[in-house]
Amino acid sequence: MSAREELDAHLTDAVVSDYVDGTVDAATRADAERHLASCASCRSAVDKTRTVVTTAQRERASVTAPPELWPMVAASTIHLAAMRRQVLASLRGVLIAGAIALVAATAVVTWKVARWSAARDVPAAIVGVNSSGPGPGRHAGHAGHPTAPEPPRAPAAPRP
Ligand SMILES: [Zn+2]
Repeated sequence: MSAREELDAHLTDAVVSDYVDGTVDAATRADAERHLASCASCRSAVDKTRTVVTTAQRERASVTAPPELWPMVAASTIHLAAMRRQVLASLRGVLIAGAIALVAATAVVTWKVARWSAARDVPAAIVGVNSSGPGPGRHAGHAGHPTAPEPPRAPAAPRP
């Protein structure tokens, strides 16, 4: 195996990976660049590896970068808990208000029903008075109030 053949050999995955990572020694780097200058296949492998590596780094950055955001995350979680408590409290307040409103509505309904039945009781009492009819002695005080006007009485003939 001559030096020429070694130079023409395709870059191994390890060399491509190390080349992309920049962890190859100067001699290997020089050989790799010399090979890449004449080998589109290995250039493509390097490009793909670089894309994968940069994408992975970007993704990893987007996932692991926010350690400084943890206080915010924790705060938001705590805030959420507080919010939940507030919502529950307000909900409980609504429930209490609803209960009060229900009691008030019930009271109003009760009052209205009482008023309604009282209003019905009054005519019922009136009807009861009227429907009972003139009982014995009921209209004693109204004796002078005839139902039909008396016809004018003809002047009595002078008695003999
Ligand atoms: Zn190659």
